[in-house]
Amino acid sequence: MPEWLRRLAGREQQSAGRQSLSSGANGRVRVGARVSGSAPGMTEAMISLQGVTKAYETDAGPFWALKGIDLEIYPGEFVAVVGKSGSGKSTLINVFTGIDHPTGGEVVVAQTRIRQLDEGQMAEWRGRQMGIVFQFFQLLPTLTIVENVMLPMDLCDVYEPGQRQERAMHLLDQMDMAELAGMFPASVSGGHQQRAAIARALANDPPILVADEPTGNLDSRTADGVFQLFGSLVADGKTILMVTHDDEMAARVPRILTLADGMIVNEVLQPSAAVAQEMMHKMPVSEYGTGLPFAVDGHGGRGTLPPVQSVP
Ligand code: ADP
Ligand code: MG
Repeated sequence: MPEWLRRLAGREQQSAGRQSLSSGANGRVRVGARVSGSAPGMTEAMISLQGVTKAYETDAGPFWALKGIDLEIYPGEFVAVVGKSGSGKSTLINVFTGIDHPTGGEVVVAQTRIRQLDEGQMAEWRGRQMGIVFQFFQLLPTLTIVENVMLPMDLCDVYEPGQRQERAMHLLDQMDMAELAGMFPASVSGGHQQRAAIARALANDPPILVADEPTGNLDSRTADGVFQLFGSLVADGKTILMVTHDDEMAARVPRILTLADGMIVNEVLQPSAAVAQEMMHKMPVSEYGTGLPFAVDGHGGRGTLPPVQSVP
């Protein structure tokens, strides 16, 4: 059993001790309230939010978009955040990626208390630790697609200058859009911009991937390919937090948090989904016609891409 799956199972037992858990259909475990705190001997959280609040100043006074978020995400977890529009999902992403300051509470990511970083340190730290797929892509309009993908590598100096273009092309190829590398963002479709944004998020091979509606503009086959890619990245040890409004997509993720009115109101752990993730990674899976290659046995370490293999 992989480490992250053991942790998931451990947390269930831990929560079973103090909350009434009911096993629902297809092996789902519904947790009435959110689960917090690590058990003795558990790995340190990759992402930890304690009492995080966020108020936006409006003409009518402060608007509390986050009302006290306690959350721990462990290395190698794949977490989906769902919730209606306006529930605070993007705000949550902005505060734990350090894009925006929380009004209160503490955010610790990869053992770094992010409020201690100044803006310059923050940008470099974020570039190395996190790949972020923004809801509205935020590709730079004056750079070509491949230049956009190379940008994080240039900013953080993670790969040798001579390797960057090749790596960017490899990532774009994984997204089945290598032939559009020289185009500007405005001249490709929303779906292609989204795929370019995913390629850019993976540029520095960061341990954490954060994605705000990453499949929102993709047709179902391409979305499925992206989901499989995420699955193989998780099996490779990356930690992924994905905001989605797609219930079907969320149902395939081992841990689902529901946000409403700036609070986590529900958490569902799905060991069966977790197992499915692991199985999916081990099994040779045929391509779904998306052109997205599936990494069958990607155990490359940091600094390498999951090996791309065509499946017989
Ligand atoms: P979601 O991503 O779940 O749709 P958001 O995090 O974008 O939700 O927004 C949460 C709430 O905060 C919404 O009611 C939104 O209108 C409000 N909000 C977001 N950004 C701002 C802002 N800059 N100023 C005022 N209110 C904001
Ligand atoms: Mg949003």
